[in-house]
Amino acid sequence: MAQETSRDVGPIVLLGPPGAGKGTQAKRIMEKYLVPQVSTGDLLRYNVAQGTELGRAAQAVMARGELVSDDLVCEMVRQRLKQPDCHRGYILDGFPRTAAQAGWLDALLDDRLFDNSRPTRAWPIVIRLEVDYNELLCRITGRRSCPTCGRIYNIHFQPPAVDELCDVDGTKLETRNDDRLEVIQPRLAAYQEQTAPVADYYQRTGRLICVNGDQAVDEVTRQIFRIIEDHHS
Ligand code: AMP
Repeated sequence: MAQETSRDVGPIVLLGPPGAGKGTQAKRIMEKYLVPQVSTGDLLRYNVAQGTELGRAAQAVMARGELVSDDLVCEMVRQRLKQPDCHRGYILDGFPRTAAQAGWLDALLDDRLFDNSRPTRAWPIVIRLEVDYNELLCRITGRRSCPTCGRIYNIHFQPPAVDELCDVDGTKLETRNDDRLEVIQPRLAAYQEQTAPVADYYQRTGRLICVNGDQAVDEVTRQIFRIIEDHHS
């Protein structure tokens, strides 16, 4: 929907409960600014699928809708941000999720892992997507994703052209294991208990920007692009 630009954008943090649209918006930011989406949920699911040591440690916790330990997640993020594709910036989707992770990220950026040649610290742009609770439930239960290309659909709002098949590659769409109704409740509770304080952390330091995530997807994207542009002007 938007023209690509290859400007440096630095770290962008997307906050918001499960189903707020972080993944959808991250993909759009990625397409416009050509910086990678670093989704801790995706990275963890990849590790689970590959049966790595991290995946084996995380699997049961994730299936219960609880949070994986800060130590494991932070180390995974540290390794990912070292990759060359993160040098011009990256979009953190699903991280930080606890106040401890937010403090850890600030310390990491203080070390200027992000870009050693940069004279000043690379402050993240922190955007919180705010969505009504009932709308969240509807979005999460309707969510389907393509295991091949990662495209996200919603059977209520953004259905594929052919039932349960990806428009792009025809792969059968999947429901995430933790999008089942019985797991959604603990996930939303984990968000309230552990992740809402992350927003408070950024609010206290005057870095929190809120966007109404109940609006149409394109409007949310438009506002996020404006925030990124304003941050760099
Ligand atoms: P998500 O795809 O972001 O909803 O994440 C799916 C699951 O992965 C969560 O319910 C947690 O179990 C785990 N997870 C993802 N990101 C984090 C994080 N930053 N800290 C701890 N656990 C996480």
